[in-house]
Amino acid sequence: MKLSIAVPIFSLAATSVFANFVKERALPLVQSNQLRRVLLRSELLAKSQKLEQIAYTTPGRNRVVGSPGHAETLKYISETVVALDYYEVTTQSFTVPMGNSTLLVGGTAYESRLMTFTPGGHPVAPLVAAANLGCDPADYPAEISGAIALISRGTCEFGLKSALAGAAGAIGVLIYNNVDGALSGTLGQETRPEGSYPPTSGISKADGLALLASLPQTGDLNIILVDVPTYNIIAQTKGGDPENVIQVGAHSDSVEAGPGINDNGSGSIGLLEIAIQLTKFSVNNAVRFSWWAAEEEGLIGATNYVESLSQEELDKIRLYLNFDMIASPNFVYGIYDGDGSAFNQSGPPGSAEAEKLFQEYFTNDAGLPWVDVDFSGRSDYGPFLEAGVASGGLFTGAEVLKTEEEAAIFGGQAGVAYDVNYHAAGDTVANLNMGAFIQNAKAIAHAIATYARSFDSLPAKSVKRSMPRTDAFQISRRFTEHDAHSHGHGCLDNIFS
Ligand SMILES: [Zn+2]
Repeated sequence: MKLSIAVPIFSLAATSVFANFVKERALPLVQSNQLRRVLLRSELLAKSQKLEQIAYTTPGRNRVVGSPGHAETLKYISETVVALDYYEVTTQSFTVPMGNSTLLVGGTAYESRLMTFTPGGHPVAPLVAAANLGCDPADYPAEISGAIALISRGTCEFGLKSALAGAAGAIGVLIYNNVDGALSGTLGQETRPEGSYPPTSGISKADGLALLASLPQTGDLNIILVDVPTYNIIAQTKGGDPENVIQVGAHSDSVEAGPGINDNGSGSIGLLEIAIQLTKFSVNNAVRFSWWAAEEEGLIGATNYVESLSQEELDKIRLYLNFDMIASPNFVYGIYDGDGSAFNQSGPPGSAEAEKLFQEYFTNDAGLPWVDVDFSGRSDYGPFLEAGVASGGLFTGAEVLKTEEEAAIFGGQAGVAYDVNYHAAGDTVANLNMGAFIQNAKAIAHAIATYARSFDSLPAKSVKRSMPRTDAFQISRRFTEHDAHSHGHGCLDNIFS
């Protein structure tokens, strides 16, 4: 950096820092009840309507990464927080491989959906069925070499099936559903030791069985991937100690199927409204809001962000709180199980304390029931856990069915999904439970206000990363231990059976 000799005594920058200092000193220190009081259901609703309108004025009627709806969402959020003049707003750009899968067999087009982490490619080759469920190398006959493998869903992960087919020489993979409906899924991780993935897509059970019955046949599978640019939005309070940060995050993108108003308009709008209302107060600790892009494509935005931070920067994040789906129509008040009491997977030190803060808030302040929800890393807090950052958050449920016991506690319908419109066109404003939405927004405000005042309730910084993560935790992060679908924790599509 080159210094100018004629530096004015009061540079513009110095003046504005002074002005901010004066302005923030004049604001009252944030208090939970005061921040909660200025959160209005009508504002959550109006901003959710804004997101739906953004989606519906675009051809795809969605807010998926790379779409005009997502671009407008990012513009809306960033312009809103910049205009507050209370935050340092930065963006972090990256690209996401997005694509399209087409399948032609005997002149007929079949619906196919590429699996997350598949490579692109255009194999035209005989279709050859794998034996059994394709979970064992012995399930792949010699003829699979140079062919497109046709494999049933079930028992083991999609990623294992694809890798084993690749190891046997397959140049394409079609996995057909074992229940009715189209099959979307993820290979779970970028690479696997068993083999390299051929281009891999999912098809419906009906189509898979029809193709099996029609062999021999030649398939034409075309998966085209393009790198789509997008960005995370990070807004940190200008005031507060930047060495001790409470970070909160929600993903800004939807899936392709619909406008994504619960998933995750709700978390995004909840944080945006709190960011607006927080400007009425001062903070002791810095508060960092984050809106992640490409969660639905595999936690890509949050992963990029965490990987971009040095250990020194990671150490400044005393706690990360994640909010993904906080207004499900058939909701539970779910709190991530940071102490591992219910799901036997605890987070880094501080995670248990964050869970306790929410539990005490719901019980004592809001007078509402709550339930532990599994802490497997199936949303943007996953990369933070992997980096050893204490984490927590709230979740009102996705595709899993509400139990009788939960219906007795929370109301709603037993035997029905927490969100029947999860990852579907019906995830609209009308899909939201506004009561759950405002209650969760207030719970988030409570956590932000509490930690913006003090981190006394968390373990000291020095012990933050003293506890190694368990093997069990590492395994589940690779999505090999559980069927993510059956636990219903966030947005990633299922990996198997
Ligand atoms: Zn989500």
